[in-house]
Amino acid sequence: MEAMVQLVDIVKSFKNQAAVDNINAEVKKGEFLTLLGPSGCGKTTTLRMIAGFEEPTSGKIMLDGTDVSNKSPYERDVNTVFQNYALFPHMNIFNNIAFGLKIRKVSKKEIKEKVTRALNLVQLEGFEERFPSQLSGGQKQRIAIARAIVNSPKVLLLDEPLGALDLKLRKQMQFELKHLQRKLGITFIYVTHDQEEALTMSDRIAVMNKGKIEQVGVPDEIYERPKTKFVADFIGETNIFEGVLKSREGQKAEIELKGKKVVNVVDDEEKISDIKIGEPIAFAIRPERINVSYEEVDGINVLKGKFKERIFVGSINKTVITLESGREVIVNEPAASTLPLEMDKEYMHIYWQMQDGVVIK
Ligand code: ATP
Repeated sequence: MEAMVQLVDIVKSFKNQAAVDNINAEVKKGEFLTLLGPSGCGKTTTLRMIAGFEEPTSGKIMLDGTDVSNKSPYERDVNTVFQNYALFPHMNIFNNIAFGLKIRKVSKKEIKEKVTRALNLVQLEGFEERFPSQLSGGQKQRIAIARAIVNSPKVLLLDEPLGALDLKLRKQMQFELKHLQRKLGITFIYVTHDQEEALTMSDRIAVMNKGKIEQVGVPDEIYERPKTKFVADFIGETNIFEGVLKSREGQKAEIELKGKKVVNVVDDEEKISDIKIGEPIAFAIRPERINVSYEEVDGINVLKGKFKERIFVGSINKTVITLESGREVIVNEPAASTLPLEMDKEYMHIYWQMQDGVVIK
């Protein structure tokens, strides 16, 4: 697929501090790409540079094959939706949505058609005469989206657009936005610090940390095969183990943990190629990939521990087990198939499939 947005060696410094530190990324036509990361990692700054509100210190921004680095915001075929809606309070909804079209001197008839269609897309037909103060937060955000899509931009930039909504409405809007994006085929670049939101909505996710992109991938890849400790930890819940590399063979890495126990995990050779035998190495296992048993288990990826606590979280049970080395491991089991507690048993055993242990940097 062709690229709609290309960020080439983008750096943005404020007073010699790099907020964005040499980013390279490509967003394909019609793609929903999310910039995900903790507060202050440079997501908004990246988005503002694409919009043209902020000038890169160095690097180049390409939009649909054209270098737009030196173009002002209104010369770029992009629109932005902000968290705080930014609607004009003194204009009714019709005029709020029509604003950009009027500036571009679109005919009255066409404006009416386009505004009606945009309102229809966000499911707020009949709201033309109302004023922003007469709308709920969710409705205001829908209007902000209608106002942005009415101009049929090549790219829609969304900066935490659902951040001010309550959880239930946010979930509903996530589906609506994703649906809208598919229907319109517009390229979306979405900023959020909410990993669940990113996993639900995106075609691909770029995980950012301290001004850099740590990993770009489809949601499944980001979740199942994180490349770094940061990504493994930031996306969902995980158990990170530190050990020493004993040997490796193809995709298999033999790792010695503190208690001298050797375990196997798997990963691409590229990731462990620069780690030498005898050097520290880390790997992650998702809580739902760990099995538990009171009985002894055959095999190499087995560790012994003691039950610490169990928490019921809706559809799953979360069990905390303290291993012999003293570290705690979290195991998630579906509520319906959770290992029953047998308090007279002294030890529990955790075990996992080799391919569920992922080497991270
Ligand atoms: P959040 O989720 O909190 O919005 P973010 O990932 O969007 O965070 P940015 O707003 O891009 O982060 O900020 C990245 C860094 O750049 C922060 O350390 C911030 O303080 C700094 N920064 C952003 N804008 C400016 C500015 N105009 N002047 C100086 N520093 C800035």
